[in-house]
Amino acid sequence: MTPFDAVLFDLDGTLCRRTQNTEQLYRETFARAGVEPFGDPRSLWGELSGPPDHDDQAGYLGRGFARLAAQHDRPEVDPLALGRAMATLTDDSEVALCPGSPAALDSADDTAQLGLVTNGPERRQRVKLDTLGITDRFDTRVYAFDLPRRKPHAGPFDRALDTLDVAPERALHVGNSLPYDIAGAHNAGLAAAWLTDGDDPAPYDPEYVLESVAEVDTLLTGSQ
Ligand SMILES: [Mg+2]
Repeated sequence: MTPFDAVLFDLDGTLCRRTQNTEQLYRETFARAGVEPFGDPRSLWGELSGPPDHDDQAGYLGRGFARLAAQHDRPEVDPLALGRAMATLTDDSEVALCPGSPAALDSADDTAQLGLVTNGPERRQRVKLDTLGITDRFDTRVYAFDLPRRKPHAGPFDRALDTLDVAPERALHVGNSLPYDIAGAHNAGLAAAWLTDGDDPAPYDPEYVLESVAEVDTLLTGSQ
């Protein structure tokens, strides 16, 4: 008997990653906004705090550009215009599966029901899933942006498990964000597998710490 009747996956940074050329995206952002370039993508990412804000991607990026503009002494710049330009130019079809994702999905599919629990909106996440060719791999898909509450609230997990008719203690959630995926899974009563970035997970306490999503296969098949 396998330890889980359902395995839920996060999408961004767990099953897939962006492949868009960031140098080119950065250059085109400034060209589109009509702003003389400053900074570089690496320093912008460094100024972006927390995971992407799906409600307000332009504002999220704009706040990063605002900090960068201050560092470069460019008070005349409208950072929100840069944020809007970058949000518009970001292509959700430029994604690739993380190494090990296909094997993870296969073993989860072989041993349990399969769910997707993402905080993004369906209109954006479907572009990624369809590009990756994995839309139909899931027995249920929850796009929490379109729900009243998102991860780390229990709501999106409850929704997935209700659909699959699986109790939380028989389910595992796999994700890369401690405050959203791991905290969320625990709020809903699921076991949690964290894709480590090397940081100390405390105060979060995932049951499993994985170096890569490829290890989901070992976790599921090795413990039968
Ligand atoms: Mg993620």
